Amino acid sequence: MRTPFVAANWKMHKTVQEAVDYARSFLPLVETVSDVDIVLAPSFLALPALAEATAHSRIGVAAQNVSAEPHGAFTGEVSLGMLHAVGVTQVIIGHSERRQLSGETDAGVNAKSRAAIDAGLTPIVCVGETLDERETDRTFDVLDRQVGKGLAGLTPEQVAALVVAYEPVWAIGTGRVATPDQADAVHRHIREHLTSHFGDTSASACRVIYGGSVKPGNAAELMARADVDGALVGGASLDPVSFAAIVTASRPSTR
Ligand code: PEP
Repeated sequence: MRTPFVAANWKMHKTVQEAVDYARSFLPLVETVSDVDIVLAPSFLALPALAEATAHSRIGVAAQNVSAEPHGAFTGEVSLGMLHAVGVTQVIIGHSERRQLSGETDAGVNAKSRAAIDAGLTPIVCVGETLDERETDRTFDVLDRQVGKGLAGLTPEQVAALVVAYEPVWAIGTGRVATPDQADAVHRHIREHLTSHFGDTSASACRVIYGGSVKPGNAAELMARADVDGALVGGASLDPVSFAAIVTASRPSTR
């Protein structure tokens, strides 16, 4: 039985003070939740304050991106060592907005994932097809490429410990959510891919979570599917009550 993993991706929202205020409201709402791994991903600026605000809880703090380089002349970049030093535990890698807007490639995702694992951080590796790719029946090909190249060279143990986020690009921030059947079919396909490349033990342990317009009203039916192990939530995670409701819907007891 995989522990559900639910992460909030705040994107470019919330000042440092707003992030701390959020933690103050959110923590009591999930205080009794011990059966879901919960992660908050604020902007880089808010990471130290949020790590401090959540230090005595089970909540992890994730960066939304990272450099694969350890240090050097990389203007505007942030290293894994810097993240680790302020208490960051996970990192989102290859989000579709970074693939589309910042030229993130599968090779870059692979380099960042390997570096994150070496630095002791858990990668949350994002994959997903565009609407055109879905409508032209290329969804599985795209995912095989993104998962195959993104995780190339990792050991079965490393894959078992990371998180894959299936985020259909057409469902991110659009209000258009994948149906539970659509999500389940893709998650099953990703797990089969993991099984054939890394073995059954690794594929059975790896959390494959869904992202794309998850809300309190649709979370339960998505999470009820056997291969959906949690959620990566954008818009609906900005409000602590709404995100807490999604966490609650992901609990094994309510699935
Ligand atoms: C995301 O950005 O990862 C995401 C899933 O956004 P939203 O929930 O707003 O669709």
